[in-house]
Amino acid sequence: MANDLFNSFMTGPDENGRFGEFGGRFVSETLMPLILDLQAEYDKAKDDASFWAEMDDLWEHYVGRPSPLYLAERLTEELGGAKIYMKRDELNHTGAHKINNVLGQIILARRMGKKRIIAETGAGQHGVATATVCAKFGLKCVVYMGAHDVERQAPNVFRMRLLGAEIVPVTSGRGTLKDAMNDALRDWVTNVRDTFYCIGTVAGPHPYPAMVRDFQSIIGKEVRTQMDRAEGRLPDTIIAAIGGGSNAMGLFYPFLDDKEVDIIGVEAGGKGVNAKMEHCASLTGGRPGVLHGNRTYLLQDDDGQILEGFSISAGLDYPGIGPEHAWLHDIGRAKYVSITDKEALAAFQKCCELEGIIPALEPSHALAHVMKIAPELPKDHIICMNMCGRGDKDIFTVAKALGFEMGEFA
Ligand SMILES: *Cc1c(COP(=O)(O)O)cnc(C)c1O
Repeated sequence: MANDLFNSFMTGPDENGRFGEFGGRFVSETLMPLILDLQAEYDKAKDDASFWAEMDDLWEHYVGRPSPLYLAERLTEELGGAKIYMKRDELNHTGAHKINNVLGQIILARRMGKKRIIAETGAGQHGVATATVCAKFGLKCVVYMGAHDVERQAPNVFRMRLLGAEIVPVTSGRGTLKDAMNDALRDWVTNVRDTFYCIGTVAGPHPYPAMVRDFQSIIGKEVRTQMDRAEGRLPDTIIAAIGGGSNAMGLFYPFLDDKEVDIIGVEAGGKGVNAKMEHCASLTGGRPGVLHGNRTYLLQDDDGQILEGFSISAGLDYPGIGPEHAWLHDIGRAKYVSITDKEALAAFQKCCELEGIIPALEPSHALAHVMKIAPELPKDHIICMNMCGRGDKDIFTVAKALGFEMGEFA
């Protein structure tokens, strides 16, 4: 690892929003003043104890933090090697880690006097979290969602409607998450005065990747304290699934300078990273380019056209990855691997059967990698994986993949 080159891995990004050659602010002149305004407000809030006091209060009473750190005893026993802990962020209100970040951005929006919140969503989890917090604060919420995803994710679309959000189906491009994000950025430029754009992962132009990371870092901070209480030391390996990379950055960031801690990000390998791009592994199978205002690894063809990717898990279906991950990958501080649909499904089933926890398909990817490496590791090796979402939303996808028809589950 190139750690003699860096005093700390936690100092990024630089003043231009760069993590090494990644990140930045590739936006139009019209968007620039909005971005700079947001950055100024965030810089102020970050150093304001009253901002964090409001966050802590809501994290505790509205989200249900701290989420537990749980020793998965039967899974540990079954695999016969390393000791496996799960960070239970699936127990958060709305069922995933997304709300950690949404709360931060909405409190910021309120401080800026913004009354209208826009968001993009793919699988619908970020849209639901945003609609939830908007309802709580009485803010107007508009969610951009690819027309194709509106069809595929009907239950989440209805949840957002119940919560009072307006859904805008996006038909440009292929009608998926990438196109929804483009349209949300366009909305922002045309509704400058009253609108705040709440981004759902560590992507977008600076300061979003760093800001979202800071809000999600509550995950890793809690793990440090809880692991110290449980084991009296840090974990040896930490593992998280990566779509855009926000739950992973949230777990990883507080550990970046503990070089004895191995850090592993798990991308969605879909049908396999070597098949005709039928995967979402931007780092393992993509190349650097610019998308949504930042430079990072992207799924693209030889002409630089962004590809859609494929995964059984809709939440991992983003053609890019947060720029900080691209940097951590290139300097070697974190390792990135991929897990196929099939492997994730097997891990999903094991988790249900052995631990009584129905995981989302996203963290099932992280768990599948845990299942790969744990048997070879000594019994005193401690792994902590982020259980970043619950599987209620995925049971129909899983039923179909396992060959069940509705009505014959028994
Ligand atoms: C949205 C989502 C993801 C992917 O987003 P990241 O920014 O990579 O964390 C992963 N897991 C769950 C449960 C999600 O809802």
